[in-house]
Amino acid sequence: MKKEKILVTGGTGLVGTALKEIIPNAIFLSSKNCDLRCRYTAHRTIKELNPDKIIHLAACVGGVGANQKGNALFYYDNIMINTNVLHSAYLTGVKKVLSLLSTCIYPENAPLPLKEEDINNGEPHKTNFGYAYSKRMLYIQSRAYREQYGCNFITIVPNNLFGPNDNFNLEKGHVIPSIIHKVYRSKYFDEDLILWGDGTPLREFTYVNDLVKIIMTCLKKYNDSEVLNVGNTQEFSIKYIAEFICSIMGYDSKKIIWDYTKPNGIFRKPSDNSRFLSLGIWGKENYISFENGIREACKWFIDNYETARK
Ligand code: NDP
Repeated sequence: MKKEKILVTGGTGLVGTALKEIIPNAIFLSSKNCDLRCRYTAHRTIKELNPDKIIHLAACVGGVGANQKGNALFYYDNIMINTNVLHSAYLTGVKKVLSLLSTCIYPENAPLPLKEEDINNGEPHKTNFGYAYSKRMLYIQSRAYREQYGCNFITIVPNNLFGPNDNFNLEKGHVIPSIIHKVYRSKYFDEDLILWGDGTPLREFTYVNDLVKIIMTCLKKYNDSEVLNVGNTQEFSIKYIAEFICSIMGYDSKKIIWDYTKPNGIFRKPSDNSRFLSLGIWGKENYISFENGIREACKWFIDNYETARK
């Protein structure tokens, strides 16, 4: 039997590198070997590689600060990347495309916990509307191509991710990699450990190694046009996370300075993954413990400090 050829866009990012561990024989693209914003380059690459399936991860991704300053950039890059990938997948007869959305694209005022049917029912948060609308269009385009051309394009919705190979840049990174990097600098370079807000907001996180298993499960078993929330829905306060990271990295958490002049952000935005769990393809017990994930991420950052994205 012919072996299935899988192409992974965004193969050098947080999710792509974790995926490489479990499907090393797939083809992994980065922006260096194919800028997917360019219609011609994207089409030529997908046509030449001729994959059976695409796991579409490539995206312009960033934390609140980067999004707030770059709504046009986030919109343009992502809308171009997504449009080109899906259209070429259709033209070249790719059998299935799995794309990632994000819980941060849900409407600002959506009822909680976030449910799939509300994903387009209102304005996203104004800090990241460029990213949010471009990702929502990825869902719309996937549905439209399924309806008109019969393409098996699916979209799944993770919440905040973390793990080895994350982006630890202090301006562009998400909350967990930023805190890990800050604690490291405080411990080794004696810098003040200043964190935004008062630490009370609650957030959900999924360890990246869980997400890649979920991706492979959905690639095999999920064939529906509807989006699917797939993240681990356990919530943790930013304060708990920061103190836990301090304890792992051997830094006194009493030295944390909470900068109350900076915004906390929304208090909580839990998501509902009950539809995903009800499919019987993934169990709640399959997510690893948050604390073990944090230990792995801290260890990876310490071991790879020189080369980590920061
Ligand atoms: P990263 O920022 O770690 O990696 C992004 C990847 O996209 C890199 O491989 C990058 O290549 C590639 N890329 C960026 N621009 C282009 C381009 N113009 N052409 C081709 N490739 C490009 O992202 P993550 O791994 O964190 O995210 C993967 C997916 O998961 C994204 O779709 C994201 O929206 C989604 N997601 C992420 C969350 C998170 O917390 N990280 C949460 C929810 C969803 P290069 O290395 O060359 O720059």
